[in-house]
Amino acid sequence: MSAFDDLYDANTRFAEKFGDSGLTGRAGRGLAVVTCMDSRIDPLGLLGLKPGDAKILRNAGARVTDDVLRTLVLAVYLLGVERVLVMPHTDCGMSKVTDPDVHALTQERGVDTRSLEFHTVPDQSEALRHDLTRIRTSPFLPEGMPIAGAIYDVRTGRLTPAAF
Ligand SMILES: [Zn+2]
Repeated sequence: MSAFDDLYDANTRFAEKFGDSGLTGRAGRGLAVVTCMDSRIDPLGLLGLKPGDAKILRNAGARVTDDVLRTLVLAVYLLGVERVLVMPHTDCGMSKVTDPDVHALTQERGVDTRSLEFHTVPDQSEALRHDLTRIRTSPFLPEGMPIAGAIYDVRTGRLTPAAF
């Protein structure tokens, strides 16, 4: 028995019905979505997408970190991405704590995380504006590539496009 047996069992059933779509790793609809790791978000479902359509980049808070930028560069030049949607969400855990809060919490368990930046989100609108600007002004991404931000409401399932 391992802590992962439920998953391996489920996969056995999945693979029995699996049909190879023949898709490549390119984003069929030319889209990359940057969103949060929140387990309530179904990025494909809420955007009417299916496997093969888009690159989905997830982290805590849907933040445009150095690693997200690195991944977007690869997605654009190697994998067919031509537009990027940054999609944070309501009720995000990252907007409820600050970096010092996280350091204090881990400290209680004897772990010093002060060398890590958690990119917590004191102001979601400001963070989204900052992250969109980061993509738009990146010297490594094509000028004029469509970039948008939208907040996903985990209670209603609705997406509200950001006005900037
Ligand atoms: Zn979140």
